[in-house]
Amino acid sequence: MLSKANIPTLGMWETPFYFYDLDLLDRTLSACKQALDRYGYSAHFALKANAESRILDRIREAGFGADCVSGNEVALALRHQFEPQKIVFAGVGKSDREIRIALDAGIFSFNCESIPEMEVIAALAASMGTTARIALRINPDVDAHTHHYISTGKKENKFGISPWMFEDALTIIRNNPSLVLIGLHFHIGSQITDLSVFGTLCKRVNELQQWFVDRGMQLPHLNLGGGLGINYQNPELAPIPDFTTWFEQVHQHLQPLPGQQIHFEPGRSIVAQCGHLITRVLYIKEGLESRFMILDAGMNDLIRPALYQARHRIENISAQLRNATQDECLSYEVVGPVCESSDLWENSALLPKTLRGDLIAIHSAGAYGQVMGMRYNQRDLAPAHYSDEL
Ligand SMILES: *Cc1c(COP(=O)(O)O)cnc(C)c1O
Repeated sequence: MLSKANIPTLGMWETPFYFYDLDLLDRTLSACKQALDRYGYSAHFALKANAESRILDRIREAGFGADCVSGNEVALALRHQFEPQKIVFAGVGKSDREIRIALDAGIFSFNCESIPEMEVIAALAASMGTTARIALRINPDVDAHTHHYISTGKKENKFGISPWMFEDALTIIRNNPSLVLIGLHFHIGSQITDLSVFGTLCKRVNELQQWFVDRGMQLPHLNLGGGLGINYQNPELAPIPDFTTWFEQVHQHLQPLPGQQIHFEPGRSIVAQCGHLITRVLYIKEGLESRFMILDAGMNDLIRPALYQARHRIENISAQLRNATQDECLSYEVVGPVCESSDLWENSALLPKTLRGDLIAIHSAGAYGQVMGMRYNQRDLAPAHYSDEL
């Protein structure tokens, strides 16, 4: 989609902007769906990865539910016609207002992250004369082997309910007819590239589930969250993530109860590779130690490098038109315009000789990119363009 033929059109739009390849999104959705269907699994897209209207519509049309982490995300999912029975709601800090929004809608499940939260949901549901379906989000103390900012399933993390709280959780459920426990929920982190971690998670889920079985509880649902990683180094080698191996790991290691429905919450793996941040070179500045390439997109447009020390593949797409060859590559320190030293795209990127005005593509930007856009330095928010506008 970022082919030579399309570069002149891309060049007509004001930069920076997000560019989404809808064809790749569709192919990713059907690959995921196919891999799920093999085992009868179901999936809820994590809206926090990308909340663009056109993208949400396509994801819903592909049959996915919605995984939300705020009341506004629940409202957004409803506005995009996600069925309430396919909406789940996690998060350690659900406010009363947010809980009411979700109760009003009659969502499928609150994924509860603490004992006090369960008490508040019980009280609000009772006062509204309704019941809340809940799942316990359990902290399984499993290491996702990912960046510590996106690791969520270790016992020191703020997320989830630990096994020593189970007894109290059951007491609250027994004492509150407004709470209906439908299952257990897990989400141990994001950008997981060692897929054996999912096998480890499943073995832990089997043990934890046994605690409930021993107390006569056969829960109808198990939700294993999201987290499948993508290839940021070489996106062109793996435009569609390995959904097959993810679900195979689960099928191999999980021991579900008879008739139990298994759910997933992919976010990044659905949308990361179909999105690119397109930006222009403002200046090439020869420094003492490095040659700076200054782009018109910065950390306010895509904060992952500054927040997680993440690296995205950078490509000079204008150089393609000039037929620049690899052996003419120079080393650039690629930076953004924002007044922060952490506004850095790449320390030493080997790129074809680059000129002011060249178009640069920052790849794998479809997840946790546009949604995290902010107006620091009073900069404008980067808009979205889609492949069908070409
Ligand atoms: C963020 C999040 C996800 C999605 O994670 P990805 O790594 O983007 O797949 C799923 N479930 C919950 C509860 C989350 O917070």
